[in-house]
Amino acid sequence: MSMARPAFARCCAPASPLAGARLRLAPLLLGLVLQGCSPPPESKAPTAASAVLPAQPRDQALWVELEKIERLLSAKPEESEQQLRELQERSRPGSEERLEILGLRLSAAAQSREQERFQTLLKQLQDWPANTLRPAARLVASCAQARLLKYQADLRAAARMLADLPSFSEATVPLLPLLRAYNLLSTLQADMGNVDEAIENGLRAERLAERSGALWRHADALNALAWFYQRADQLERAQQLSNEALAEALRDAGPMLLYSVYNSRAILFSDEPDKRIAQEAYEAAMNYARQSGGVGVLALALGNTADFHLRLGNPAKALQYAAQALPLARQAKDIASEILALHNQGIAKIALKRVEEGKQDVRRAIAMDEQQGALRYAADGWEELGQYLEKAGDYAGAIEADLQYRALIDRVLRDETRKTVLEAQERYDDERRAKEIDLLNRGNSLKAEQIRARDLALKLWLALGGCIILSATLLAMAYRRIRRTNLALASSNESLKLQSERDPLTGLANRRFFQTAIRRLADSGRLRGTMFLIDIDHFKRINDQYGHAAGDTVLVEVSRRLRTTLREHDLIVRWGGEEFLIVIGAEEADYAAQLAKRLLEQISSPEIRHGEQVIPVSASIGYASFPLPPHGIDVQWERAIDVVDTLMYIAKAHGRNKAYGLERSEARSEAELLALTERMESAWHEGQVVLASVQGPPLGGSF
Ligand code: GH3
Ligand code: MG
Ligand code: MG
Repeated sequence: MSMARPAFARCCAPASPLAGARLRLAPLLLGLVLQGCSPPPESKAPTAASAVLPAQPRDQALWVELEKIERLLSAKPEESEQQLRELQERSRPGSEERLEILGLRLSAAAQSREQERFQTLLKQLQDWPANTLRPAARLVASCAQARLLKYQADLRAAARMLADLPSFSEATVPLLPLLRAYNLLSTLQADMGNVDEAIENGLRAERLAERSGALWRHADALNALAWFYQRADQLERAQQLSNEALAEALRDAGPMLLYSVYNSRAILFSDEPDKRIAQEAYEAAMNYARQSGGVGVLALALGNTADFHLRLGNPAKALQYAAQALPLARQAKDIASEILALHNQGIAKIALKRVEEGKQDVRRAIAMDEQQGALRYAADGWEELGQYLEKAGDYAGAIEADLQYRALIDRVLRDETRKTVLEAQERYDDERRAKEIDLLNRGNSLKAEQIRARDLALKLWLALGGCIILSATLLAMAYRRIRRTNLALASSNESLKLQSERDPLTGLANRRFFQTAIRRLADSGRLRGTMFLIDIDHFKRINDQYGHAAGDTVLVEVSRRLRTTLREHDLIVRWGGEEFLIVIGAEEADYAAQLAKRLLEQISSPEIRHGEQVIPVSASIGYASFPLPPHGIDVQWERAIDVVDTLMYIAKAHGRNKAYGLERSEARSEAELLALTERMESAWHEGQVVLASVQGPPLGGSF
């Protein structure tokens, strides 16, 4: 394992228990998000924004210049500030140009941590004249403050700054400040681990970006979405989105954009068996970072590449990159990048048997982390140091590092637990709070147990390390205690996990959840109720024709419609990509055909909108109710799925936008029914089964 150190974001979420390699992406997204904040040049995007603007001629050349600055702002905040200050003279007070320039200058000031300058600029927004841009000025001000808070590592306060974002729309503010705010909010949510919300707001940003007409903004938004899906453990979708982002970025190239897209790719593809995609992406990211002229960006790109080579087992290469990164990080005064480079340099040296030298580097990096209050990273640092020292044969050093790690991680766990509970208490309203706190308390007692177990382990280590001989009985007791705790942990973890098993895109239950829930409805594994399997028709074409993000919107909207059509206690599951499984109670059997018809209607109309696009959608459904008349046959629920799956395929084969239901069958046992299922179509024609056929509504579109 290598130090997976997120050079910018690490300071934003020091307490977050997330894998570092993933976090390294966040600052890059933020980098472009910063830039996504200016109104578009008029020629490209005559958006709804114009409805709220003062009727004044736009200074087109100025807008072109602003966009150029914006695209390099996060690489060179100070240079950008100078240019922007000059341009501000050319803009009229109260104009859209002035607002844009102030927004960009605030971004640069936040990035450079120039507090005083930031406050002066903010004041100008707060004193904005009472014209139509006033709400926009308020939004830009909140966005800037949120960004500053993010840099100061207070993610929750940052997100709270944007709490009234839903009250803004394109009717009241120009498109790009809105896009910028959604970009920032979704990134914050992803960093806080609220992946569902991050995806929802990321999709909003993506739509706005597409409407802005600037391909680079769209590429940036797709890139951010890819990151969120990766955080939701949907790597395949993340990679698809990354491909789309790259294709779009290449059509509107710029060094910071390409740097950011390639850096994401490198991380998204780094666990693939074939390392070439990641390697090429790391190299491309370094090249573009160099082209951007941003010293800090280049330091980060080099540091990340060093990390990758460590993981590949190339310490010599890793050392080379880390050593290049170090002076650049110092020049850019970027402490996070400096720690990353120093740590990786030390680890690489240890792997190359320059143990003492390497140890010194890593210890310095850890000390810097501790100084910053980033205890989790410091703990990770000790852990990795221990592992590498052990490999290098320095066992005394390894034991010491391990002891340090254990002591520190306990402190981190305690702090995190306390913080999580405090935050939850702050965040939730009464009813939800009760539930959430109950859950957290359970997690809390778990963590307390975990800490106790660690304490014991630590004592054991100390005992061993110091050669103090404990009595055999004591050791046995301690071990038993740890084992008991671990067992309790495993089972409570399991139950906590089950409670949260939802599909992150649609919010519906997922397959794992289903397996527990079906026990409510299936009596000793036998289903008594009605089961529907719904598969969206030609979904691949929807993705191909309207884009993957549009496909996602369809899935989200179809899920919402299913939820509103069905009742609270009906079981609705996202069964596969575009397949949904529904189980309702046995008492509803007579109503199954009617419900199938309603489901077909609800899915198709009204047509689903994704931005400007109107997407015709239909589905095919198979359904069956058990016990099945006339002989009252019931089946294991897994077999019921086979039955409805077969019926769904019959619906596909008969032209789609249809439902087929099993009404009756002459089968007298489960085995007979399954045999008939295997030849359902001919059994139907021969009268051994009776099927109901339900036609969906006429479709307007081309599907
Ligand atoms: P049919 O009418 O026969 O069902 O055709 P189809 O195109 O709907 O079926 P197919 O199974 O061939 O394609 C399903 C596609 O759904 C393939 C996959 O890329 C896509 N998909 C799966 N999960 C997701 C998702 O979460 N989001 C998006 N946008 N696409 C997804
Ligand atoms: Mg399918
Ligand atoms: Mg399908």
